[in-house]
Amino acid sequence: MLTRRHLMASGAAALAAPFLARPVLAAAHAQAPVLPAAQKFAIGDISVTALNDGALRLGPEVLQGIDAEDYATAMRDQFRDPDTFRAPVNAFLIQSGDTTMLVDAGTGGAMGPDLGRLMGNLAATGVAPEDITTILATHLHPDHVGGAIEGGAALFPNAELVFNEAERTFWTDDAIMQQAGEGNAMFFNLARSVLDIYGDRLKPFSGEGEVAPGITAMPLPGHTPGHTGFAIASGDASLLIWADIVHVTPVQLANPAVTIGFDVNPEQAAETRAALLDRVVADRMLIAGSHIDFPGLGHIMQAGEGYAIIDAPYPYAD
Ligand SMILES: [Zn+2]
Repeated sequence: MLTRRHLMASGAAALAAPFLARPVLAAAHAQAPVLPAAQKFAIGDISVTALNDGALRLGPEVLQGIDAEDYATAMRDQFRDPDTFRAPVNAFLIQSGDTTMLVDAGTGGAMGPDLGRLMGNLAATGVAPEDITTILATHLHPDHVGGAIEGGAALFPNAELVFNEAERTFWTDDAIMQQAGEGNAMFFNLARSVLDIYGDRLKPFSGEGEVAPGITAMPLPGHTPGHTGFAIASGDASLLIWADIVHVTPVQLANPAVTIGFDVNPEQAAETRAALLDRVVADRMLIAGSHIDFPGLGHIMQAGEGYAIIDAPYPYAD
């Protein structure tokens, strides 16, 4: 029997005008419960919960250093469909002692109705926005801090915003903004809004160092000037949240030289990616990525001339 959902899956929704897409999706959601996309892992005594915000299409047109044909091949090699591949946007809840932190805050309303699901998934964990004491921002792009604000107000009323000072320097520079042009104004405006709204609760840091007990900032510049990973350590366990080291995981692990249009300094981003991939393989580090398939945790191994990811084991309850 051909149901309404089958018809939508066959592409009718994709053909509908964008303004029709939301009601159609809403109808599909009404038919089936949406399960929470929240997955908790233990890193020693620290609990890290991956929270999904949604996913976005990142086709070959947003990448540099690869053509559509090689993109399709890389996708198929990793059992992904090149025509429909979407990259997730993940954030991570960290619960350590009596601190409740969020690494990034999703997109909020900044990037359309397929995203902005972080708050619902956070609620599923039993944590309220008021409980968040700290937002650790990997960088100030809209898919990482857009969800920290809504309508000119902070969505996390008690949270300090921890971020790399190099981000503020870059996004608040009028000359750089002008040079970047109209097409990039949204990125600058959003970063500025977030900094304004959290104005009395800003905690900038510079370089490498501890930003919270057991959590160390690791500058990974290139994607943005202050792009930063957060290394979590407790006892013998550790996890590096590497943020945007890859955006299109199947392609950029296979070929780390491929860069994305959102890189502020693509050359430096590729160098940082190559160096970090080398290190996480050598050190057998558990990593988590903002744009690695949810829940986004895994180990990296060498594969041919590039790399591949082995997902972290599912954390079965005791
Ligand atoms: Zn991102």
